[in-house]
Amino acid sequence: MNPYWLEDEPVPRPSPRHEGTVDVAIVGAGVTGCAAALRLAEAGLRVRVYDERAVAEGASGRNGGFALRGGASRYDVARDTYGVDQARGLWNWTERALDRIEDLAGDALRRPGSFRLAVDEEEREQIRAEYEAFREDGIEAEWFDDLPGVLAGHFEGGILHAGDGALQPARWVRRLAALAAEAGAEIREQYLVDDVSALDAEQVIVATDGYGHGLVPEVADTIWPTRGQVIVSEPIDRVLYDKPHYARQGFDYWQQLPDGRVLLGGFRDVSILDELTDVEEITPAIQASLEQFLGELIGETPRISHRWAGIFGLTQDMLPLVGRVPGRDGLWVAAGYSGHGNVLGFACGELVADALLGQTAPQLELFDPARFL
Ligand SMILES: Cc1cc2nc3c(=O)[nH]c(=O)nc-3n(C[C@H](O)[C@H](O)[C@H](O)COP(=O)(O)OP(=O)(O)OC[C@H]3O[C@@H](n4cnc5c(N)ncnc54)[C@H](O)[C@@H]3O)c2cc1C
Repeated sequence: MNPYWLEDEPVPRPSPRHEGTVDVAIVGAGVTGCAAALRLAEAGLRVRVYDERAVAEGASGRNGGFALRGGASRYDVARDTYGVDQARGLWNWTERALDRIEDLAGDALRRPGSFRLAVDEEEREQIRAEYEAFREDGIEAEWFDDLPGVLAGHFEGGILHAGDGALQPARWVRRLAALAAEAGAEIREQYLVDDVSALDAEQVIVATDGYGHGLVPEVADTIWPTRGQVIVSEPIDRVLYDKPHYARQGFDYWQQLPDGRVLLGGFRDVSILDELTDVEEITPAIQASLEQFLGELIGETPRISHRWAGIFGLTQDMLPLVGRVPGRDGLWVAAGYSGHGNVLGFACGELVADALLGQTAPQLELFDPARFL
C-alpha cells in the first residue's frame, strides 16, 4: 500500500539539464540529497541529483513526520558520550535547522511541539535524567508529572519539547527539490546508480541513508539498513493527539494528522533482528501489534486506511556519518540518522555541502566517517 504522504499533489518544478561533467553528483533525492543540492546550486555549482525512484520516495516520504530537534540518543546519554559542548552544540544546531525548515516548508510544517512519554517507572527515571540534563545545560524543555487529556493515567510522566514540529514529509521534500531545481540543480529520477566512480562528476555525495547498501563499500558495515513500519487510520471525529507523541525509547510514535487520521509507527522490537533488512515490506506480526496499540490509543477498533514500510540507516553510536569517505578521492557521504533524519538529514545535507565548499563545523568532527574505519 502506498504511503499516505506520497498521495499528496506533486509539487511543480523546473527541469534544468546539464550537459557533460558536473561539479557534484548526488545519489539520493530525499531530504539529505535535496538539501545538499539546494546549498551547492545556490553557491553556483553545477549539480545533478540521481534517484532510482522519484523525489521523496525513500524514507523521506515514508516516515512518521516527526520534526524533532537533537540526535537519536537521549540528551543525557549524548552528553555523557561526547561531552557537553558537542551535545549542546548538536541540539542548538538542529533547532536552527528546524527554524530554516519552517522558512522553506510552507504548509508542510506545523510546530505544535512534541511529547516524549514514559511507559513505566524505569523509563520515567531515564527521561527524568534527560530532563535534568536539559535544564543544567540551558536547553528549554518542560516536565509533566500529570499528563493532559487522553494521556492522563496511561503514562508515567513526559517531556514537552515546545519547539518541535510535525511535517507532511513528502510535500516538504518535494518543495525542497523544487527549490533546488529553481536554483539550477538537475534532478534525474528513475536512474539507478550502481557505480559511483562511473558518474560524470568531479565530486560525488552519497545520500542514500538506509537504502543503497554496498554502494560505498567502506561504510557498508557501519550503516545498517533497518525497517520501520507505519499504519494510518481513517479520520476520527475528535482531536485526541494534537502533537507528535513517542514512548518506549522512541520505539512507538504517533500523531493525529490535520484531517483527523491517526498515524502510528514502531513496534520494531517485536522482531528486532528481522527488521535489520532493506526489504521494504510490512509483516503480519508488527502490523498486528501496531493495530492493537492504535485501538488502545483511540479507544475503538481502528479502521486502517494505509500501511507501509520504509528503510532507514542505523549506526552503532546513533550518530550519522557525514564527510569524506576515507581513502576515496572526491567521494562524500551523509547518511545513518538512526531513524531521526527529518531535521538532522536536512542539517547534514547542508553540512556535507558546506564541507565540500571548504567550510568547517564542529559537527563534522562528531560525524566523521573515519571514526569507524
Ligand atoms: C518508517 C520510518 C519512520 C521514520 N520516522 C521518522 C520521524 O518521524 N522523524 C524523523 O526525524 N525521522 C524518521 N525516520 C527517518 C527519516 O525518514 C530518514 O532518516 C530520512 O528521511 C533520511 O533521508 P535521506 O534523504 O538521507 O534518505 P532517503 O529519504 O531514504 O533517500 C535516499 C534515496 O536514495 C535513493 N537511492 C538509494 N540507492 C540508490 C542508488 N543506487 N541509485 C539511485 N538512487 C538510490 C533511494 O531511492 C531514496 O530515494 C523514519 C524512517 C522510517 C523508515
